[in-house]
Amino acid sequence: MTDQTATVKTIIPSGDLLKEIEKEIGVNVNTCYQCRKCSAGCPMSWAMDYTPAQLIHAIRLGQSALVFNSKTMWMCSACQTCTTRCPQDVDIARIMDTCKILAIKQGFSSPVPRVHKFNKAALRNIKWFGRMYELGMIGDLKMRTFEFFKDAGMGIKMFFKGKLNVFPSISPSRTSTTWKIFSNVAKKEKEHRA
Ligand code: SF4
Ligand code: SF4
Repeated sequence: MTDQTATVKTIIPSGDLLKEIEKEIGVNVNTCYQCRKCSAGCPMSWAMDYTPAQLIHAIRLGQSALVFNSKTMWMCSACQTCTTRCPQDVDIARIMDTCKILAIKQGFSSPVPRVHKFNKAALRNIKWFGRMYELGMIGDLKMRTFEFFKDAGMGIKMFFKGKLNVFPSISPSRTSTTWKIFSNVAKKEKEHRA
């Protein structure tokens, strides 16, 4: 009979990613006890390569490359179901966003480039107009993806139903507030890098 205890290895967490997340958003990922309630309620888990609970576990084990190459955080719709259900108050939705930001900062490209391009187009649109101007956002997205005719049928239907305005609704006070938010974020990011 072999001595099983002699061959069993212990996985020692390397906490760099864990610490980075804690530093960025103050969430202690280590409080997760893997009950998987987050994954059970996630409406997007069917499109993810790792469930939210698996991603949390990978973070705890310091598997940065796995996390940063994962589709999971890119498919997350930020619906907050996981965060609401977590008995340990782990803010999973926020961790998903943070992982996206850290992945891009560290030079990883999104395994779902369309989502990343959509994020950029939507943010630029909000920055310029203070709110979503759908037609402008669609134009920006088409220029980034070169998928000029994708969903054209749906776009035409929306247009004739009055869901796509030809001109953006611009309010100077709203737009200047949005500009202030974007410039504050840029300032904080600069300070953070320094
Ligand atoms: S619900 Fe919370 S404690 Fe449970 S697996 Fe998900 S993150 Fe961990
Ligand atoms: S916030 Fe993201 S990870 Fe959490 S339940 Fe919603 S889609 Fe899933």
